[in-house]
Parts: sequence; C-alpha cells; structure tokens
Amino acid sequence: MPQLGFGVWQVADDEAHASVSAALEAGYRSIDTAKVYDNERGTGRAIAESGLAREDVFLTTKLWNNEQGYDEALRAFDASLERLGTDYVDLYLIHWPVPEQDKYVDSWRALERIYADGRAKAIGVSNFTEQTLDKLLQEAGVVPVLNQIELHPHFNQAAMRKANAERKLLTEAWSPLGQGKGLLDDQVLQGIGAKYGKSAAQVVLRWHLQIGNVVIPKSVTPSRIKENIDVFGFELDAEDIDRINALDNGGRIGPDPAEMN
Ligand code: NAD
Repeated sequence: MPQLGFGVWQVADDEAHASVSAALEAGYRSIDTAKVYDNERGTGRAIAESGLAREDVFLTTKLWNNEQGYDEALRAFDASLERLGTDYVDLYLIHWPVPEQDKYVDSWRALERIYADGRAKAIGVSNFTEQTLDKLLQEAGVVPVLNQIELHPHFNQAAMRKANAERKLLTEAWSPLGQGKGLLDDQVLQGIGAKYGKSAAQVVLRWHLQIGNVVIPKSVTPSRIKENIDVFGFELDAEDIDRINALDNGGRIGPDPAEMN
C-alpha cells in the first residue's frame, strides 16, 4: 500500500471522476472512497479509464454503518464492487464501529470471508477505539491491517497510534490536513515551510509520513493535488517534528467514535 494516497470524501460522483483522474495523472496510486461518499462509480470509472493496470492502483472502500451484520455486509460489499466496476478491492474497511448497535464482530466475520475469497486483498477498520479494537481482536481470526482514524497536528492521536502499533495495526490518518480549516494558517507550520521552501500542507504531510502514518489528503484543485504528493524531496529534522507534535490541542473535528451511530 502506498504510504500516501488520495481521499474523495465530500466529492460528488462527477467531480470524483475528475479529481481521481487528476490524482492518478499526478502520480497517486492509492484511492480512498466509501459507500457513504456516494462516488464509488465516478472513482471506479476514473481508475478504469486511466490507462493504468488495475493492479497498479490500490483501491480502498468502506462498509457503511446501516449495512453492518454478516449477511448485510456481504451484500454491501457486492454492491460496492458493482459500483466500482471491479472484481476486487485492495482494502475493505468497517467505516465506524457503532458500539451502540454492536454488530462490528459479525461484520468482521463477513470481511474475513471476503478476504478468504480474495475479493479484498486486505481488510481493516476505521474509527476503532482501544475498547472496540480489543473486543474485535478477541473474536477475530484475521487481525485488521490498519485502523483509519482522524489524525492531524491539532489532534495527533499519540495514544491511539501507540495502541494500534502494540496490536500490530498500521495507523492511517483521515482529515490529515485538518480539513484545511485553520491548521494550515498555523505560524509554526508556516515557519517550518519557509525553511524548506514548502507549504504548510506539505509540511503536515511530511510530518505524517515521518511519524509512520499512512495518509490520504483530499483536494479537488489540480494544483493542490500535485502539491500534496510533492513531499518526497525533503526531510523534516527532529526539532521540526517535536514542534509539530507540540501543536496538539485536542482539536477533534469529526465525531467521537464512541458516540457515532
Ligand atoms: P483533509 O484533511 O485531507 O483536507 C482537505 C481540505 O483541505 C480540502 O478540501 C481543501 O480545503 C484543503 N486543502 C487540501 N490541500 C490543500 C493544500 N495543498 N493547501 C491548502 N489547502 C488544502 O480532509 P478530508 O477530506 O476530511 O480527509 C481526507 C480523506 O480522509 C477523505 O477524503 C476521506 O477519504 C478520508 N476520511 C475518512 C473518514 C473516516 O471516517 N474513515 C472521515 C473523514 C475523511
């Protein structure tokens, strides 16, 4: 799995086609969509029309909350494949644990079956807390390959990154740029960027890569799509990393996974 990929949340189906095409053109080889984003068709078409071989693109989609349960998840997966126009995904995730409905262990059994059939090359989770992860791991035959969680310098998830690593899961960061809101105006990030001739967004993405996260920034703007993948030609020093680590202010943007249903 490429460590840096491209996300398409809040991108309409038509626009997803254009954005994913621009991303593949810019060199991204990993695309993150979900049933609930309602753009699996546009995403799949962009991949099919890119001229790239299917096996050269790492494709992730996710099971939505109201389709959890063993039979429901199997059906939901079939429908995702149909919309994506492919016969396998590289990674299938449970989007949220939804502890209130408590169906994620049954859903996981369906993902294990899909994995055994080779229709998902890897399976994982998203928005799992230590508690929901441990309950899943008690029952699981296959350990999730990763946990995709909200993670950016204002909410750096040190404890959850450690919890994932202790359980042998990779951490994947969603909203890695803090959705662009406020974070990218931060003077510390701007200052570090000036030192390397890079933007605050590039500094943040470089920080993710260097602390070991898989990262999937989103943009629909071609120049930013290119900017966000142009992060492999410089390296932050240890002091920069420490200063970015110190920006955490508990600033969660999205829902709390313990409460999301
Ligand atoms: P993000 O942190 O990637 O921020 C995207 C926004 O930042 C853009 O819309 C734009 O306004 C701004 N931006 C992007 N590049 C920029 C640049 N170079 N300079 C200035 N501003 C820039 O936010 P996101 O879309 O919420 O997260 C990324 C991906 O993570 C999503 O598209 C989706 O695939 C995934 N995601 C998953 C979950 C989940 O529950 N699993 C939740 C949210 C997002």
